[in-house]
Amino acid sequence: MATTTTGSVVTEEPPPYDHCDWHEGPSGTARLVRIIESASGPGASLYACAPCREQRDLTALADIPMDVWLASLRTPA
Ligand SMILES: [Zn+2]
Repeated sequence: MATTTTGSVVTEEPPPYDHCDWHEGPSGTARLVRIIESASGPGASLYACAPCREQRDLTALADIPMDVWLASLRTPA
């Protein structure tokens, strides 16, 4: 008796940093700028490249002080 596994395993990986969600294209400068919380799922992460961050006045989450970032989460939209 032999067991063969020819199927490929599909794993969900987080999006790479080389994609901009704002202009929806490849980018070498994309950084995580927003996390969308979802009540029924893992949520989503949005990345923006340098030009898009400048145009849309976005700040990479890594550049925001933790206390400021937490305060923004508590602020109702
Ligand atoms: Zn962009």
